[in-house]
Amino acid sequence: MSPRELLRQATARLAAAGVESPRVDAELLLAHALGVSRARLITADDVADPARFLALVDQRADRVPLQHLTGTAAFRHVELAVGPGVFVPRPETEQIAGWVLEQVAGVEVPVVVDLGTGSGAIALSVAHEHPGARVTAVERDPDAIVWTRANAATRAAAGDTPVTVTAGDMTDPGLLTELEGAVDVVVSNPPYVPEGAGLPREVAEHDPPLALWGGPNGLDVVRGLLRTAARLLRPGGLLAIEHADLQGDSLPALVRAHGPWADVVDHPDLAGRPRYTTARLGRG
Ligand code: GLN
Repeated sequence: MSPRELLRQATARLAAAGVESPRVDAELLLAHALGVSRARLITADDVADPARFLALVDQRADRVPLQHLTGTAAFRHVELAVGPGVFVPRPETEQIAGWVLEQVAGVEVPVVVDLGTGSGAIALSVAHEHPGARVTAVERDPDAIVWTRANAATRAAAGDTPVTVTAGDMTDPGLLTELEGAVDVVVSNPPYVPEGAGLPREVAEHDPPLALWGGPNGLDVVRGLLRTAARLLRPGGLLAIEHADLQGDSLPALVRAHGPWADVVDHPDLAGRPRYTTARLGRG
């Protein structure tokens, strides 16, 4: 069958299943099944045996995340291996990593800690884009950290400055005691989904619960994270925390109420939704 006809049928199937971007997903799955780039699909020959592609379309129609089917997620300038057990990095998180990079641009050897790193997206992007950075990536979920370690090994083999991967809980008062008072930036995309919030099936059924849920108002883990960040950062060190679009007031308010934070600022994502809060350690 021609790629064109296969794509037409798959797009209709995915649209009927409620998939948000059916045409793009169909193209990426066909490219993956054929082992070619998406751009090469227009010149691809007829597909003699579309079984592999059709099986992928079935799974996507059953709302398995696209990235689990292709096995990768693009984040800024790196490709991360993802699959069952690890949170799929999102495009809306790319900017918080960009903010961190802007802050450390003039610093030769900045010390950066990524709390709740999952696939390693933020930590590995910082190391990729600032080769001088000394980055530590922390993950508590034993299933997720397998992916963190694999991605860190891939990036280091590709020539990036190695990132230190540490098993631990971002709320643990004993975490990274060796870095106390020595960190330039603490960054985190913590679990912040409020209990009971509705999530798409891709997220609810495939992202790890530990990476999502943050208690009644979604801020339970953040409280512990703020204590850890205050302990790790040097005076004047910076904090950046991602949050839900409905936490654009509550998260900055929590930071302000919580301790010695100055310059508390909230930032929107590319879609204009409130997405992350930054602050500086030290009374302002
Ligand atoms: N942004 C994620 C979602 O789409 C939630 C991520 C998180 O809790 N850190 O569900």
